[in-house]
Amino acid sequence: MLRGFRVRLYPTATQEQFLSRTLGCVRVVWNQVLNWRKEQYAQHRTFGSYRDASGHLTELKRRPDFEFLREVSSVPLQQALRHQQRAFENFFAKRANFPRFKARANRGSATFAKTAFRIRDGRLHLAKLAEPVRWVWSFDVPVEELDVSSVTVTREPDGSWWASLCAEMTDSQEPEPPEPTGKAVGVDLGVHTFGTLSDEAEPLEAPDLRRKEANRKRYQRRMARKKPGSANRNKERKKAARAYRKERQAREDMLQKTTTRLVREYDTICLEDLHIPGLLKNRRMRALIQRLGWRRFRALLKAKCARAGKQLVIIDRWEPTSKQCSDCGFVLEQLRLDVRKWTCPGCGARHDRDVNAAKNILAAGLAVLAEQRARARATAEPEPAAGKACGAHVRPRGHSPPRQRAAKQEADLSDEVRPFSGRNGRE
Ligand SMILES: [Zn+2]
Repeated sequence: MLRGFRVRLYPTATQEQFLSRTLGCVRVVWNQVLNWRKEQYAQHRTFGSYRDASGHLTELKRRPDFEFLREVSSVPLQQALRHQQRAFENFFAKRANFPRFKARANRGSATFAKTAFRIRDGRLHLAKLAEPVRWVWSFDVPVEELDVSSVTVTREPDGSWWASLCAEMTDSQEPEPPEPTGKAVGVDLGVHTFGTLSDEAEPLEAPDLRRKEANRKRYQRRMARKKPGSANRNKERKKAARAYRKERQAREDMLQKTTTRLVREYDTICLEDLHIPGLLKNRRMRALIQRLGWRRFRALLKAKCARAGKQLVIIDRWEPTSKQCSDCGFVLEQLRLDVRKWTCPGCGARHDRDVNAAKNILAAGLAVLAEQRARARATAEPEPAAGKACGAHVRPRGHSPPRQRAAKQEADLSDEVRPFSGRNGRE
């Protein structure tokens, strides 16, 4: 199994200069070759193969005006062509848009394949650099024991440097897969609490990013007041970028921890589908969802469930999860957003709004699974293996989605934003 490790680098001034130049060359090669390929297409109706592109790079390096390309390691330049080749393949397979030119930017990256780096005594040596680049390795696996296949060096907009290592893990290096627990859970994602669990276990809490966010906005405002292109403006830009990076890291950390916890504690995890692409059309919702990291949460959960042989069930959002009593099935006409607790007129049960929703999500998820099993038995096919249904979009049969669904969820969610914004004194 491949595993990624991302670690901060502390290059010296000379190393930083060299790395910046490498990133610049990667960008030049990408753009030059992309341009050449476009010309090829105009003339010969073909974008050319990787080998053709590689040939063009060799020609480029011979030209006096591109002499500088020879000053950096040739490996990241070659890797840039590979990345471009993949970008074209994705484009042809309709998985991605046409590859774009890279702008001169504050961020960039260069990939060093096996021949262009060495890890010795826990230190990272890059081709053409005399000294190892300083880093602090703090992962559970010692870096000397890793079978690293590539190192991607990245510069963030705040000027910090990072290395992403891609390593093939041996069986003994893999963490023990979590034991089966026999437990299933429904998760209600929300704005007040990141995730409420159907069994009323400790909820999933999001980090409080408000202070970090306020910091970043302050820097951004200060930057806007400085003269464009001035050194002071750049200084403020870096501060804002740094604050932004810290925000992102705190969120990522939380998402990693909560998803690991869920996969460890439960065998079956049921989530509501959020139809995120649709929601992203609403600018305020888009900002909110990005801040909360729901998309990333789902992707991480899907990957971790698949790896651990656990099951993730995603149910459609049309079910009235908040308004339905999880005990007797009574459906309320309406439930105002500021009502956190309510009593069911049908059976008298007292509900916490989010826990009740999580219970309904669990019930819907289990119903879906039961139906899948029944269908599998009926067609005499073997039962779907655990994790097989991972991330599948499944919907209980017999209900066609109502027409107004999209409109309904839009309204639901934007309602939910309001108390949150108010509480924080925004708007
Ligand atoms: Zn009830």
